[in-house]
Order: sequence, then C-alpha cells, then structure tokens
Amino acid sequence: MKKIERRAILCMLLAAFLLVGTGIFCYRFVRDGRTWAVAYRNQHIYKNGHIRVGKIYDRNDELLVDNGGGKKGSPKYIDDEQIRMAVVHAVGDAQGNVASGAVTVFKDKLIGYNLITGTYDPNGSGNEIKLTIDSDISKVALDALGSKNGLVGVYNYKTGEIICMVSTPTFDPKDPPDPGKAESGTFMNKFLDGRYAPGSIFKLVTTAAAIETLSKQEIEEFEYYCSGSRELNDNTIRCSYAHGTVDFDGALSNSCNCAFSELAERIGSKALKKKIEDCGLTTIYDIDGMTNVAGTFEVPDDAVSLAWTGIGQWKDMINPCSMLVYMGAIAGDGTSVRPRILYSNFGSPKSTDRMIEEETARKLRQMMKNNVVSEYGESRFPGLDIYAKTGTAEVEGHEPTAWFAGFIDNPDAPYAFIVGIEEGGNGIDAAAPVANTVLQALVD
Ligand SMILES: [Zn+2]
Repeated sequence: MKKIERRAILCMLLAAFLLVGTGIFCYRFVRDGRTWAVAYRNQHIYKNGHIRVGKIYDRNDELLVDNGGGKKGSPKYIDDEQIRMAVVHAVGDAQGNVASGAVTVFKDKLIGYNLITGTYDPNGSGNEIKLTIDSDISKVALDALGSKNGLVGVYNYKTGEIICMVSTPTFDPKDPPDPGKAESGTFMNKFLDGRYAPGSIFKLVTTAAAIETLSKQEIEEFEYYCSGSRELNDNTIRCSYAHGTVDFDGALSNSCNCAFSELAERIGSKALKKKIEDCGLTTIYDIDGMTNVAGTFEVPDDAVSLAWTGIGQWKDMINPCSMLVYMGAIAGDGTSVRPRILYSNFGSPKSTDRMIEEETARKLRQMMKNNVVSEYGESRFPGLDIYAKTGTAEVEGHEPTAWFAGFIDNPDAPYAFIVGIEEGGNGIDAAAPVANTVLQALVD
C-alpha cells in the first residue's frame, strides 16, 4: 500500500513539474518568441546574418530596397545611385554598419513575426514598410551638400513626418566601403545620432528664456552697446565686429555675442537650464522605434561659462533632430509635434509637452522674420516665407560648423529645417543656400 502511495506522490510531483515547465515555456514563448523567431540563426529569413525578407518604400512608393530581391537572396536597392547614397542612413544597409537604419530598427516588422504563425509567411517575402522620407528631396539635399560633411533634416511641423535626414560623408550600400577604411562618420546618421556645438542657433533658446524670465519692460528697454568685445572676469567675449548699440531684436539679428552674454547673466543659470530642458534639447524621442540622442549641456553659475553657454558655445552640444523639433514649437503655438518615420503607421500627430509660451513663440517668429529681412536678405530665399537663424559654431582645432535652422510658413508646405555643415565656416554663406535649395524643391 505504502509503495503505491509513494508512486502516486511521485506521479503527482512529475505532473506538477510538467505543468510548471509548460507554464514557464508558455510565458517565455509569449515574452521572448519574437526574439527567438527573428534570431540570426533562422536561415530562412537571414543570409549571412543579413535580413533577406521585406521591402522598404519611401513616401511616394519608390521601392528603396527589396531585402531578398537581389541575386541569391541579397538585397536589391533602388537603381538611382544618388538616391541610394542619400537615403542609406535612413534605410540602413545589409552589413548593419548603419546602426539606426530602418532595416535594423524595423526588423520585426519586415519579417512579419506574430505569435500564431511565427515568421511563417506563405509568400516567403516578408512585409512592406513605408517611410515618411521623400527620396527625391533627399537626393536634392545630398547634391546641395556637395563635397561637404554635414547633415540636412526636414520635418513637417504639423504632422511630425520626417521628410529628409541626409548625412555626409555617405556611401553606396550596393558597394559598401570597408568599415576599417571608410572616412570617419560615414555610417553615422548625424541627424539622429550626432551631437554638435550649436553656436548662434542656440540663441533661439536663450532668447526664449529671456522673454520668459525678464519683465516685459526689461525686454522692451533692453539696450546694449557692443564695442566688438566684452571683458568678463578674466575672459573676453568677442563679436565678429563692433555692432554698436543693439536692442533686444537687434541682439538676435546681429547675433551679438556681447549682448547675449549680458542676457545670459540676467536670465541666470537655473532659468536657462530649465528652458533648455523645456525646449526638448535633452529629450530622446521615440520615432516609431528609431531614437535620437539627447543633447548635452552644463549650465554653470560662474559668469563666464554662463555667458558662453547662452551664446551656444562652451559645453553646449545639441542633437539636430531635437533642435528641429524645437523649430516646430516656434512655428506652432509653443508646442511641437513628435517626429515620425513610419508612413504606414501614420495616425494623428502626437504633440510634445509645451516648450515655450504662445506669446514667446509669437515674439520669436517676429524676431526670426526680422533676422531674414534685416540681415540675411529675403532675396536669398525667393518665394519662401522663411523664419530662421544662422549659426557659426567654433570647434577647437577645426573651421567652424555652419548652421541654418528655422521653418517656412506655408499651409501646403509646413516644414521646419536644420542644416549643419562641418568645417563650413559662416552659417549664412555655407548652410543657408543648402536650406534654400532643399526648401525650393519641397514647395515646387
Ligand atoms: Zn556684438
């Protein structure tokens, strides 16, 4: 009798183990099934470690890459070489050198995994995804950058769609360079993954902080006499030339470093730091699964570092994508729209938190328009209702990074833009013409 009892207990224990084991498997299957299914050892969806299913289109249904469409399951890219090179940082490459490309980020979507059928697909060709990118505009941007290294970012500030994110130096995914021999930065999506000294485009943040920290009267009565330099403790703040007497608008349109050092002092480090965060410059956006890197800033109390921080130098490092989203907030009512990259996934635009007050956005628009009219010259941007700020950021040991950032006011083309050119020199001469070329193509 005892023997039977012992056996019964043993059976019960075994059954219990089986039950628990099955439970654990089911839990892990649901939790990790996607990871197992899309693992690189599954040879029907990979070839030599590269995804061989799925197609990626641009917003105009141009087939940018058919992952398994080439010889023996290799990727088949769009025929136009310039387009391949313009969109490779957005699309990604078979070797996975571009870490943030759609091929890598949207692997699951391209494979088409689901819990019931796994990666089984009757056609064996995977899924199609459509990006918000315009490949023709990207080609125009690449051409406009020419031999210069840098980036062009454009997004629709009403819908959040990223239209263009082009980085140079670039490469042809059809004939990729040896990673060990490629020029530095070749595989980097500089719009999403780059961090740069902003120079004077950062004054758009300092200006917002000033408007919201100082009294209305202080702004209206602000006047600064610029002799070309300002001694601050043991440091000299310099302007490109003596601007003479500037008011608040003139400080921005002349991009007067000396006046901005005074403004930064009046704003104080605490308020400036908060405005940097409010404006999203330290934000990482979830762009349908892609991400940007956060900008980095130190906003110290001491007068000299604070002055240079307000001017957009010292330890200020912006990410172009988050700066672009801030341009959207100025174009709008002080909130912006979160960036999107998946066209097929396009729902209603998702707003950011409030970055600046509505009144501040209105004042900044007026000042950015004044920059164009009084300093840059509207004739540089024929037919465009453009609002902008230039930047010429000092980089130790290099020529300055040239910047041009802003937006156009056009109900049919609500685009914000950012152009950065490494070793480009002057913002208005190097970066503004690139922005104009791309924007002209967009409104055409
Ligand atoms: Zn000045």
